[in-house]
Amino acid sequence: MSRVRSGRNGREAAALGALFLLAAWGCRQKADPMETKRAQMVETQIEGRGIHDPRVLEAMREVPRHLFVPPAEAASAYDDRPLPIGSDQTISQPYVVAFMTEQLRLTGKEKVLEIGTGSGYQTAILAKLAAKVYSIEIRPELAKAAAERLRSLGFRNVEVRAADGYRGWPEEAPFDGILVTAAPERVPPPLLEQLSPTGRMVIPVGSFYQELKVIERQGGGYSEKSVLPVRFVPFVGEAEGVPPAATPGSGR
Ligand code: SAH
Repeated sequence: MSRVRSGRNGREAAALGALFLLAAWGCRQKADPMETKRAQMVETQIEGRGIHDPRVLEAMREVPRHLFVPPAEAASAYDDRPLPIGSDQTISQPYVVAFMTEQLRLTGKEKVLEIGTGSGYQTAILAKLAAKVYSIEIRPELAKAAAERLRSLGFRNVEVRAADGYRGWPEEAPFDGILVTAAPERVPPPLLEQLSPTGRMVIPVGSFYQELKVIERQGGGYSEKSVLPVRFVPFVGEAEGVPPAATPGSGR
């Protein structure tokens, strides 16, 4: 008798437990309907293509990419491609963001410089993985929107400056990592100088055909390797021979 009762109680408890889990799952889905899409993006586009740094994967699972694209593009935010973000600029393909970030080998203690804030998406990923991120965007309207977006999402370890990134951020140098998301024809020398003695820079170089380069400071010199063929928007301003006073963000 008592066994029968306890069996029934057990079944009721199991049914209640299942109901509770279902309700909790329902709330989770409601809280962030894009979470499932994001998890799939990480699994197929990123982990599936060989990115293994668990911290990078976690950051890519957490940052709500759909809030960094214009509302009309939100439904495509987790697609395997770059997307327009206004002002003729693009947010990079998720895989490229993850790949570039992994190359910096961040542990959480680093000071990082980013050139080309754009939407602020890459900035947010870096902010999850480093101690502090300084990001420079040459188009003032993008810099302003990105800074506001990052603030409203609760990122407190980020500073955004509207300026030409060619000369870096000398007041805050040296940097343990420098990540550039616009392509110059040659690496700007001031950025090389602002790398810490063990720092790494990830930068696309070239015009039509571009290579993603990883540059490491080693003793008195630098080592450089090409790691991926890429296609980024051009690094404009002083790198193209435009005098500093003529660049849109030079007023800061
Ligand atoms: N990382 C961005 C993608 C930005 S696209 C994201 O996640 O959304 C590249 C950005 O570099 C553009 O916003 C462009 O305006 C900016 N850029 C181009 N040349 C620059 C320069 N000299 N200094 C700073 N930003 C520059």
